[in-house]
Amino acid sequence: MKNITQSLIKELEKYENKKLCGLQIKAKYYDNIKFPSSEVQLLGQWFEYKATGQKDRYGNIPEPPLLKSGKYPKKFYDILEHIDPFKKILKENNFEIIETGKRIIHRGLQGDIDLVLKDKKNDKIVFGDIKTTGLLNDKWNEFGWDEDSLQFKHNLMIQAIHYKLLGILEYEYEPDFYFFLFSNKNTIERKIYKIVLNDNRLEEHLSHLEKIFAIKKNAETNGFKAYPNSNDCLKCPIKEKCTEFTDVPVITDIYY
Ligand code: SF4
Repeated sequence: MKNITQSLIKELEKYENKKLCGLQIKAKYYDNIKFPSSEVQLLGQWFEYKATGQKDRYGNIPEPPLLKSGKYPKKFYDILEHIDPFKKILKENNFEIIETGKRIIHRGLQGDIDLVLKDKKNDKIVFGDIKTTGLLNDKWNEFGWDEDSLQFKHNLMIQAIHYKLLGILEYEYEPDFYFFLFSNKNTIERKIYKIVLNDNRLEEHLSHLEKIFAIKKNAETNGFKAYPNSNDCLKCPIKEKCTEFTDVPVITDIYY
């Protein structure tokens, strides 16, 4: 049985709303087909590897693209300017890295924790997640990290809730959870968010997980449905073999 990760939750939500093709989910999560990382994702993986030694989700060392000159694009050097400040952040907060990329599995739920840290102030385990972003102060983009907008961004916050739940199952207390955010647009902007959950947030997540389990079970039993869409199909890593591929946009009704 496929464990439920925070990324699978998000993809099954999109699938349920017909915003993501089910054949892509099947290929990625069930057939273990590698979906290539975008350059922005690769930049984040590269930074994480250089800062903590953590490899990518397939266990590979991230390799930046090479220019004709034999060098990496400038942003792959610039991002490394955040490494010393990151180390300083850990030191000043009395955090010690215990483990990177720790996989926790309980009751069909899974999380791959970027940073398992010891908070030396109280000897408790805390979780950290490293993000590089060009949207550090963006309020309106769904992936923007403006602090006042985060309460409305389920898509970003679900990771913290899911990992805290796994932390409770693993350690029998709720670990603190921190996002360590680094700008990929400049070398000076960084933020740290400690995610504090409302009283009923974990219960809400548990009932949401029941719905996700049902969507997953239905798809596993009856097959994942294709939702072809020319924009997605043309970029799809499995388009060569897919019988549902289309390069013709579907007509969308707009009510006015
Ligand atoms: S090519 Fe299109 S229909 Fe086929 S898996 Fe990819 S997105 Fe889905």
